[in-house]
Amino acid sequence: MASFLAGIFGTEQDRVNCSFYYKIGACRHGDRCSRKHIKPPFSQTILLPNVYHNPAHDPNCKMTDQDLQDNFDQVYEDLYCELAKFGHLLELHVCDNVGDHLIGNVYARYEWETEAQAAVDNLNNRWYAGRPLYAELSPVTDFREACCRQNENGECNRGGFCNFMHLRLASKPLVSSLHAGQRLERRANPPKTGGGDGGWEPPAERVKKEAGGGAEEPRERERRRRSASPHGKERDWHRHEKEYEGSRRR
Ligand SMILES: [Zn+2]
Ligand SMILES: [Zn+2]
Repeated sequence: MASFLAGIFGTEQDRVNCSFYYKIGACRHGDRCSRKHIKPPFSQTILLPNVYHNPAHDPNCKMTDQDLQDNFDQVYEDLYCELAKFGHLLELHVCDNVGDHLIGNVYARYEWETEAQAAVDNLNNRWYAGRPLYAELSPVTDFREACCRQNENGECNRGGFCNFMHLRLASKPLVSSLHAGQRLERRANPPKTGGGDGGWEPPAERVKKEAGGGAEEPRERERRRRSASPHGKERDWHRHEKEYEGSRRR
């Protein structure tokens, strides 16, 4: 029974947890949804709702397609540069949907959960384009699953009101140059310190903790406290840096 429930978690067959919240990080019913929206205690992904305001949505907008793309590229670059300050940014996506729960949503996925947490903590005190930012950890892990396939083929008849992500894409040369810039920056200034536990644990420990939900053996806590000591952290960094180098050379 337990493995059956784990297998359907966050899918349409799951009668308890909302599949939209789980897959897309936002559901049109919001707090009034009849299914649960369980905020993850740890995640590599963050959500900044309602950040990008597409000028094309203004009925008086006179901008050409090129102007609109240049405008969006500027926003994307701003966001990328700011978000990369908190860690190794793997993905950055901006929604072009117009429904209240998805309009202008920005999603960022980091290599480590601690980096995502640092971004959330910092961004909640910040403003962007004259509006206060709100940031939260998001359950979204797979953006292929979150995006509308029909839209990618130009066939979605729900348009901006679709409940799956319709992404606004930055121009390809900009995205490549931002990725290259981050790579160079990280090579020139390798991160010196970790951000505590969570992302610093081997994956097997994390799975155990998530499955066990909170209650921790005193011995386990002691082990984690010790492994979070500066010495332990430094050792971790070297190990992960090597893995990172190795994975890039492949
Ligand atoms: Zn829901
Ligand atoms: Zn769609």
